[in-house]
Amino acid sequence: MTPRITVLSAPSGGGKTTIARAVRDQHPDRFGFSVSATTRKPREGERDGVDYHFQKRTQFLEGVGAGKFLEYAEYGGELYGTLKSEVEKVLTSGKHVLLDIEVEGARQVRQQYAPPRSVSIFILPSDPRVLLDRLRQRKSESIDQIRWRLDRAGYEMEQALSFDRLIRNDDLATAVTEVVSIADGSAGRVRDEKDREWIINYGRGLQREAQRLYDELHHQKG
Ligand code: ADP
Ligand code: 5GP
Repeated sequence: MTPRITVLSAPSGGGKTTIARAVRDQHPDRFGFSVSATTRKPREGERDGVDYHFQKRTQFLEGVGAGKFLEYAEYGGELYGTLKSEVEKVLTSGKHVLLDIEVEGARQVRQQYAPPRSVSIFILPSDPRVLLDRLRQRKSESIDQIRWRLDRAGYEMEQALSFDRLIRNDDLATAVTEVVSIADGSAGRVRDEKDREWIINYGRGLQREAQRLYDELHHQKG
């Protein structure tokens, strides 16, 4: 097995965190996780050094200046970045390294580690309505943050076709199996000819969901 960087990206609620955790828990001997740095505040239950390295903005920017990051990006007004040390630690132990990162960071990783050294996977539940329902049920964001994340999903969908693979996260076990076999398999782009059409329709579906959310909130206020 050649260890490689396996990038998982998805609009918020797509399931990348759940899938990354399941892959690592089920295959601890073959997959390691890169713990990112972020300037956002810890959520309830999150632990420093485990879920993220929580940093002040000045500390993060010093790290950027010192060349410590493989990639970094701003998301929702906060900085997030992958530390080179985290990635190297996992790769030198002979394991694939999983990155759960947003699309801008994924682009930076692809530039520096072209396939087969990396493989990038974009994850979505088949139905945009399910994406919003999962995001709301997770209850980790305010409604305003959910609306921002849904708007951002429109931009993220435009990047989806730059990824090597798209997978549907409907049944979790199936999605986990797919990620494992993609990481182990030959890297490179595999594109179903219907993917483009699907992605365009999905973007429209998300816009409808954003409108539905807006109407619902408006109705509650009125
Ligand atoms: P992301 O990290 O992409 O924002 P999460 O991994 O947090 O998404 O998943 C969003 C929510 O959906 C979580 O509450 C998670 O438990 C749930 N979820 C993820 N994948 C599935 C799945 N295949 N089936 C049902 N629920 C799922
Ligand atoms: P959250 O605040 O929900 O934990 O994460 C917000 C977004 O930041 C998610 O899309 C997540 O994948 C992304 N993210 C987490 N860590 C990193 C990172 O190291 N780099 C980049 N570019 N994005 C990250």
